[in-house]
Amino acid sequence: MAARSAVDVCITGVVQGVGFRPFVFRAAQAHGIAGWVLNDDGGVRLRAEGPPDLLDAFLAALQAAPPPAARIVSFASSAAAPQGLATFEIRASAMRARPTARVSPDLPICAACLRDLADPADRRHGYPYVNCTDCGPRYSIVLSLPYDRPRTTMRSWPMCEACRREYDDPGDRRFHAQPTACTACGPRYRLELADGRVAADDPVDAAAALLRDGAIVAVKGIGGYHLGCDARDAGAVCALRERKFRKERPFAIMARDLDAARELVILDASAETLLRAIERPIVLAPMRERLAGVAPDNDELGVMLPYAPLHHLLFAAGAPRALVMTSANRSSEPIAYRNADARTALAGIADAFLIGERPIARRIDDSIVRAGAAGPVVLRRARGYAPRAVATFPDATPILAVGGDLKNAIALIVGGQAFVSQHIGDLDHAPTRAAFAATIDDLCAMYGVERSGLTVAHDLHPEYYAAEYARALGGRAVAIQHHRAHIASVLAERAAWDEDVVGFAFDGTGYGDDGTIWGGEVFAGSLRSGLARVTHLRAMTLPGGDAAARYPVQAAAGALAGIADDIAFDQAPFAFPPRFAQARAVARSGLRAYSTSSIGRLFDAVAALCGFTREQTFEGQAAMWLEHLARRSPAVPAYAFALRGGTFDGEPVLRAIVADRLAGRDPGAIARAFHGAVAAAVVDLAEALDARRVVASGGVFQNALLTSALVEAFGDRLWLNRDVPPNDGGLALGQAALAHAAQSGT
Ligand code: ZN
Ligand code: ZN
Ligand code: FE
Repeated sequence: MAARSAVDVCITGVVQGVGFRPFVFRAAQAHGIAGWVLNDDGGVRLRAEGPPDLLDAFLAALQAAPPPAARIVSFASSAAAPQGLATFEIRASAMRARPTARVSPDLPICAACLRDLADPADRRHGYPYVNCTDCGPRYSIVLSLPYDRPRTTMRSWPMCEACRREYDDPGDRRFHAQPTACTACGPRYRLELADGRVAADDPVDAAAALLRDGAIVAVKGIGGYHLGCDARDAGAVCALRERKFRKERPFAIMARDLDAARELVILDASAETLLRAIERPIVLAPMRERLAGVAPDNDELGVMLPYAPLHHLLFAAGAPRALVMTSANRSSEPIAYRNADARTALAGIADAFLIGERPIARRIDDSIVRAGAAGPVVLRRARGYAPRAVATFPDATPILAVGGDLKNAIALIVGGQAFVSQHIGDLDHAPTRAAFAATIDDLCAMYGVERSGLTVAHDLHPEYYAAEYARALGGRAVAIQHHRAHIASVLAERAAWDEDVVGFAFDGTGYGDDGTIWGGEVFAGSLRSGLARVTHLRAMTLPGGDAAARYPVQAAAGALAGIADDIAFDQAPFAFPPRFAQARAVARSGLRAYSTSSIGRLFDAVAALCGFTREQTFEGQAAMWLEHLARRSPAVPAYAFALRGGTFDGEPVLRAIVADRLAGRDPGAIARAFHGAVAAAVVDLAEALDARRVVASGGVFQNALLTSALVEAFGDRLWLNRDVPPNDGGLALGQAALAHAAQSGT
């Protein structure tokens, strides 16, 4: 008999719940390898025995083509003494300590399951919960780790004999597919009308017919309910806005397929790749077709492809090929995900409810991304991405970071890995606060993290709800300044602990070291040595404080104080409403007038000067409006900030804008020249500060016109966020990184 050798292998990363063990099993069969494989605390562990050449080929095959949803972080093999094993088997999980093996994000339906769904001869024909080891829900159904059926929301549905046979057969696509089920044994969908009657017909057919007729249907998906309606039915879209109290914030659209998506938006290769990616996010792309009421005043549209089997069934049953599919909630509440809550929360909004029986373990919104000049930009990180690790940390001391009060997401650092939660939302209402607390409990429980002795990083803002909550948790609380956290989020993603950078945090608002409102900050240093504020936007007055964030004319009154006191802004071309004059008086009085270095407020002021004089109905609306206005103009010479006295000053920019408006210049060109000025300020300051490495983060850098100018100017010298959002959704990661750097000393 030929010489045999043996190896022990440890594989870490996203390797559980993604069909990794059956994949190893099949590879072992194919290569004639004996041994075993199992899930343990660290990931997947296996023993392989066979002739040396076959063994090498087997190990190479494992690394060459792992299952689509798997992410191998480390693959360590070591020689062992052969034990004379004769067969290869899959062994039961061996869990002892804290389960740091990661649960996979939810996966879209795979091609093979799509075929089953459409095949009249298959026993899962038309079954909305079809899945296999390559696809289906994961994070949204996990109750605790390790990922096994009794610890998922599928535990109440015993498998039928046929499903059990597949589940137990290592050669089957559904071998250990934890949520596997079929028409005979699994959960189902039903369609309830608003009055509570259950439709007698097939629920999917009936829902598709209602959607064709202009109805609003609540549809239970993977991480919660959507509210769906025909995107091309202006009446239905308008009714949805009215019933949801959602004035202007854009609705996302689910397109039947790629062709249907191309009718709606212009897709370049990278946007198309994102659209089809395994995360199935909402992709922002330039609008091709203008749909009344879907994205008012916007040149971009958010489009996604179907990802749950149910979505495919709906389209196959004749639902309109472009559906508004927006998170089912009342404005500012978290997405509804429990059946009873959905019935209550959406009463008066939905005409019917397509209700699935499989419970959702936790709410997870759709993610939003854009193909940026330097790669994808994640604007909302949720389904498909969470709870994937976004960074590695040098040691295993657990840190919880609670994020900010807007666009909240939390981070948990455990076992040297940074897990960032799904987007939670704005913590200004009780239901979102409850979701925030539940997510902290959830992540800590999932990764077996004890609260006592935990380092808890939070924002410096004394009035942030998240900060207050963090201090009450009883661990070691560490306050981190908001804009340093933005810069740190970029550095943490790249594990750049010692990289010396110049970091530009251009943002809405955040609490500064000196108690004033910051948001146009430039830092120099590294995570390890600390980030020192080296310059900032020269402070402007902000009359009325936080309320100014809602009214661009109020920001304008502050920004223009002392600059254009003689101009009658209530007249054309400005036509500011009376709120401007009131705010101007407040600014002059000095009472309830605050100081801010926020570039977000400067964007608001410029938007007001260019014509956005109404109230913003969602955060960042005026800045987004200004960006789209600028895009419609060809490139023009930029205005220039004044660099003086350790600050950069917007005064000359504002003076020029007021003069240009009075002279009748096209507001699009003005908006464009303003964007140019902001980009030029970054470039000039980076040169003045001798920056080798430039980092840009903060809500303002969601602006693609701005970031593409920077990518053009800096090339590879520029680091932007990759895995977490540049907005406050990325704060938690940065907070954790700075808390880590502080506690590990220098
Ligand atoms: Zn599948
Ligand atoms: Zn079954
Ligand atoms: Fe921020």
